[in-house]
Amino acid sequence: MNKPAGSPEEFDAVVVGAGFSGLYMLYRLRQLGLSVKAFDSADDVGGTWYWNRYPGARCDIPTTDYTYSFDPELEKVWTWSEKYATQPEILDYLRFVADRYGLRADIEFSTSVTSARWDEQEKRWSIATDRGTQLRCRYYIMASGCLSMPKSLDIKGTDRFAGKVYFTSGWPHEDVDFTGQRVAVIGTGSSGIQSIPLIARQASQLTVFQRTPNFSVPAHNGPAPADRLAWLARDREEYRDAARWSRGGMPVELTDVLGVTASETVARERFEDAWKQGQLFAILGVFADQGVNPASNMIVGDMIREKIRSVVHDPQTADALCPKDHYFGTKRPCLDSGYFETYNLPHVRLVDLHKQPIMSITEDGIDTADESFGFDAIVYATGFDAMTGALAAVNATGRDGLALTEKWAAGPSTYLGLMTTGFPNFFMITGPGSPSVLSNMAVSIEQHVDWVADCLRDMGAEGFETIEPTPVAEAGWDQHVRDCGAITLHPTANSWYMGANVPGKPRVFLPYIGGVDAYRQACDDVVAQDYLGFRRTGPGGERCHDGVIRRMQPDVSLVLQVMATMGLPPMETLSADDARAMMALAAAARPPSPEVGEVTDGVMPGPAGDLPYRLYRPATAGPHPVVVYFHGGGWVLGDLDSDDPLCRDLCVRSDTVIVSVNYRHAPEARFPAAAEDAYAALRWTAAHAGELGGIPGQIAVAGWSAGGNIAAVACQLARDAGGPPVSGQLLLTPVTDSDMTRPSYDENGDGYVLTTPLMHWFWDYYADPADRGDPRAAPLRGNLEGLPPACIVTADFDPLRDDGLAYADALEAAGTQVRRVRARGHTHTSVTMVGVVISGAPVRAEIAEALRDFFPSRTSLGNPLE
Ligand code: NAP
Repeated sequence: MNKPAGSPEEFDAVVVGAGFSGLYMLYRLRQLGLSVKAFDSADDVGGTWYWNRYPGARCDIPTTDYTYSFDPELEKVWTWSEKYATQPEILDYLRFVADRYGLRADIEFSTSVTSARWDEQEKRWSIATDRGTQLRCRYYIMASGCLSMPKSLDIKGTDRFAGKVYFTSGWPHEDVDFTGQRVAVIGTGSSGIQSIPLIARQASQLTVFQRTPNFSVPAHNGPAPADRLAWLARDREEYRDAARWSRGGMPVELTDVLGVTASETVARERFEDAWKQGQLFAILGVFADQGVNPASNMIVGDMIREKIRSVVHDPQTADALCPKDHYFGTKRPCLDSGYFETYNLPHVRLVDLHKQPIMSITEDGIDTADESFGFDAIVYATGFDAMTGALAAVNATGRDGLALTEKWAAGPSTYLGLMTTGFPNFFMITGPGSPSVLSNMAVSIEQHVDWVADCLRDMGAEGFETIEPTPVAEAGWDQHVRDCGAITLHPTANSWYMGANVPGKPRVFLPYIGGVDAYRQACDDVVAQDYLGFRRTGPGGERCHDGVIRRMQPDVSLVLQVMATMGLPPMETLSADDARAMMALAAAARPPSPEVGEVTDGVMPGPAGDLPYRLYRPATAGPHPVVVYFHGGGWVLGDLDSDDPLCRDLCVRSDTVIVSVNYRHAPEARFPAAAEDAYAALRWTAAHAGELGGIPGQIAVAGWSAGGNIAAVACQLARDAGGPPVSGQLLLTPVTDSDMTRPSYDENGDGYVLTTPLMHWFWDYYADPADRGDPRAAPLRGNLEGLPPACIVTADFDPLRDDGLAYADALEAAGTQVRRVRARGHTHTSVTMVGVVISGAPVRAEIAEALRDFFPSRTSLGNPLE
């Protein structure tokens, strides 16, 4: 490369790191014909596997999968010796790869990047290293690893100790012999759990200082799994493809068995089978719901605790080793070889730091609150500043002098975990917001490297020089990452996934938990939509198709996917009776609903005969305000059972009596039967509030969908016909008009359960065209003066969204107080799917709060179900 004398050397790309990701990145960039320089602070390749050479260090993804797949020839010439390879073997593999593709020539070892600054004028990064080198590059790629920056020691007196000190994250290259020594190990994460059994073999005395016990399952190491080897031999490409499109980056069969509904026998069988496999994804997938449902998770956690107790002889030690403060899987579980058995050895002792915390490291050992220990060596297995530590360490400064650390002061923010706004041409391999540490890293690394390389190829072909995500795209992805994490149990744990292991680090769930498959699809979709959410610039101008790649709540999209696989006929092609039967079948398959104080069924008089109702009374002492509720179903479908879970949920959350009324349905009873029944039910309930356990005079109406329609109508009728006074109206994704030309019908009329054809089907059954403008069918067209306060819920992916918004606007214009609740990322039906769609819970909590606010004399309960 030519350069004027004295000016910094120029490269197309600089890569930080020469581990799994850096090596492959280098390989791909070279293939593109780009000039590249890679740096690594180690004196050889290997990354994680260079530094973490402590005794017992092994991968915990089977070697059939923890391997590069980009070159079939490489897979032919390298054979792994066992199921979980040791660190020396993995390091040998990475050296072999570096040599095979001649990668070392472009790597500067024993060199760290100390700063990187974006020059907006030149459209280049200026890089400085600790060897005083200055260079410039167009693309700056961080392949610096997720667990490569050791956590600073946060224990008093660490510099006092006169004996030997070791860190699992930076183990010496020469042999360490603990024979005859008194050794302390601090930390019981994967590194501690892997090294403790081996250190115990040599040490004369081993004391393990444990702050938090960890879940660990036996690795059952041995030959690589025969079924996987056979599949690879049969069709390597098929296997690799299955891995790329799997949830965790390794093909495993996913179950639909729920822990909460599984029999004890089934639960035990599934658990024991996973236990035998000795694979993380097996034990993390005993039940489909163990990552999201506390009760289901507890079943697995209890069985693991039972195993620990069955292995460890001393009951006190066994108890101390049983994790109790976090759900299984919310901290990274470990795979071990003889870990718990080690505590049965006479020279091994566990010190529970919750009972006797470390006061200080001393000259000759460790002082806890109760004891002084003498040691010859201390091993720190205290973990990493995960996922962001290594990125922060290179001091990157983006446009307008913005430092990455400053931008991420409240937690990282990225688009796809690949790039971050304000830092053009700055790429991260497996950055925060990508599946990374929750997946088989080998697969995730290859996917990221391929994406970046393909992106640079496309930029070159289209004449672009810079690329950067837009603020809209980045905020949207951050939200999606948070939404995915929020429905899991992860946020409840003090894990390094949450940044909780490093004092002062913002508490944010760092990885993307939507799955390797879903993530790959999102990345592919971004590219297919002309790099949606990226701004690319070049001499010919700029191009940007701005937008958000995933707006739907993850569990809502999962429900839609499952429904799509069921091959159900469109409801509007069925008769009303068949549609009702289909609804009843679906209702029978729902998980248990929340318990309420009391449920009774009864009948009340209606204009054309008795109306069945179901009354839900809270467990708290009454009397309570009363809410008359009308179910959804397009005036045709639905009954007391269909909305039972929602009524229970509302009853508990709002601490009100819910009276769910089964009004007459079309086509048997057409307009205005349902509306008249609704009003009659309101009057009767108001008149009998005291007998129902309610507070007379404190009555509201609520309804979902068509039920929202007749609830709104009932309020108008009550105003016009002399009462009763209504304290509030809760309209959950209501039908408020018969006009189906609003934009939400165009945007959401297909693919989100409630479709435009289905709405036509409902209207056709319910009302003659001539009646559809009647305010009792289209309350939006009525007189909106003097109506009770409203809470109107609208969902983003609902054809009725604009019906709800229009009613909210119109009520406000007429002077009514309106609380708008937006069910972000939801469909017409998903908010009501209690116990199925977890992301609906916060929306229902807000709705319940609105209900309580209709009755200001009641005290606030908080969110009893949260
Ligand atoms: P880790 O999981 O963060 O564990 C660190 C341990 O040190 C924890 O038990 C922690 O307790 C304890 N600790 C930290 N600071 C302490 C203090 N001041 N006083 C007392 N105890 C303290 O770190 P790791 O074991 O190095 O593992 C990190 C991750 O690397 C793993 O989760 C895994 O993803 C990866 N890893 C993988 C392998 C493999 O593939 N086989 C092997 C090793 C590591 P608290 O829990 O109370 O904070």
